[in-house]
Amino acid sequence: MRWVAGWATLGRHARYRAFACEAQAILMGMKVPLIVLACCAMSIYAQNPTAELLEQIIRIDNSNPPGNEAKLDDLLAAKLKPLGFEIDIIPTPRPGKSHLIARLKGNGSAKPILLASHGDTVGVEREKWSVDAFGAVEKDGYIYGRGAIDFKGGIAVFGEAVMELARNKVPLRRDVIWLVEADEESAPFNTTWLAERAWDKMNCEFALNEGGWTMKQPSGRVRYVSISTADKSSLSLLITARGTSTHSSMPRPDNAIFTLANALARLSHYDTKPTLTASTKQFFLTLARTSEPPMSTYFSDLVNSTDPVRVAKAADEISTNPLLHAIMRNTIAPVLLNAGFRGNVIPGSAQATINMRLIPGTKTQDIVAEIQNVIGDPNVTVEVARPAALPDGTPFPRQPSAAVKESTTDTELYQALARNAGALWNAPVTPYLFQAGTDANAWRSRGVPVYGVYPYPITDDDLSRMHGNDERVPIQSLEEGRKWIYTTLVQVAGSKTK
Ligand SMILES: [Zn+2]
Repeated sequence: MRWVAGWATLGRHARYRAFACEAQAILMGMKVPLIVLACCAMSIYAQNPTAELLEQIIRIDNSNPPGNEAKLDDLLAAKLKPLGFEIDIIPTPRPGKSHLIARLKGNGSAKPILLASHGDTVGVEREKWSVDAFGAVEKDGYIYGRGAIDFKGGIAVFGEAVMELARNKVPLRRDVIWLVEADEESAPFNTTWLAERAWDKMNCEFALNEGGWTMKQPSGRVRYVSISTADKSSLSLLITARGTSTHSSMPRPDNAIFTLANALARLSHYDTKPTLTASTKQFFLTLARTSEPPMSTYFSDLVNSTDPVRVAKAADEISTNPLLHAIMRNTIAPVLLNAGFRGNVIPGSAQATINMRLIPGTKTQDIVAEIQNVIGDPNVTVEVARPAALPDGTPFPRQPSAAVKESTTDTELYQALARNAGALWNAPVTPYLFQAGTDANAWRSRGVPVYGVYPYPITDDDLSRMHGNDERVPIQSLEEGRKWIYTTLVQVAGSKTK
């Protein structure tokens, strides 16, 4: 009965591990007192506080809108304050929405390092999940829940790493700033908004954020670690076809909806040319080293071959993978259609919005001209869509510009991240152009290098669930990620003279 009582007081982690210990002991034919098993379970549990923190924060629903980031900030502040962190909670005009800035003071001999992790998540289609999306369910070595990868897993890893610095009283030569930001998921009070109001609290020599991937095979071997040094930027274009507005009983050849449909059909058959940034070249050469033939040949041909036929073949083959297709091109995605207002009127205009994700260095006027040229119809205009606004008129902060420069890899932080990842996972490490947007440009646009990581090894299957259903992260990967980030922080922020 004592066992049952003890069992009930253990957390789910501990129960799972106690069971595993017990099973192992039985298999080994050992007679181990149950209390020893329980202690064994609790000590393992204590060794994975990152998983415990992740479970706590998944249970807060931070789906944005509305985000409710303040609840998360309060939970984290309560953990950080007793460890000596200076805490700033910056409110936004939305009740319940705030940014948390926690600072662990160093001796000031170097500029701060900052870790950024967004607290909001996208919403869920509850009926499509096999578990409670906010239940932090443990299954098959995974923690399931919205944000497990994007980016509550990152909050848990970054948070545990910085709290460990404080617990271990590591002497610091620079402040370590941990930011848990609001409104990263396409909402207005994000880091761009914050930087305009509180830059002095988030200014730093360099920063860590979400971004590149630590990809592993289902067998567990890490294939590569990519660290993002730039993000693609988002640009929405409004395509407007015009024709005669008239009675639907007398159709004319200049029907606006047909004209728009033809324009979109031309775009659907068009693909922009491959454009390889310096980091994309390095990324593809890493894939050339870590892939099987014939893909390995295609990756090296795309970067190195001077034969246009081989390059074209390589680009076509690589482009069958949507992620790789996106990394090397300005992408075109129709996202909205708007035409007509009643069943017996031919409308005078029809509109489509296409969302483009641009490689750094792309000029807006060039891409507008390119799309206009592909459509090639004087009855169709192409213009930059007005920035989105909330129903109450609150404008979104200006979109990140494709003119923002890629972060250099020639910094102490990048070098330490790469060195430690290579040592931890015995895998190649490469810089990377992130295929989507993050809020890194609040820093990059001010000249501060930002390096993006999802600091836990995941499989292709895990990655496909991000922003989707049954999002999950391997429990073991969280612990590996914490080690990676903690070691890096000790080297980059620790004072060398103890
Ligand atoms: Zn994210």
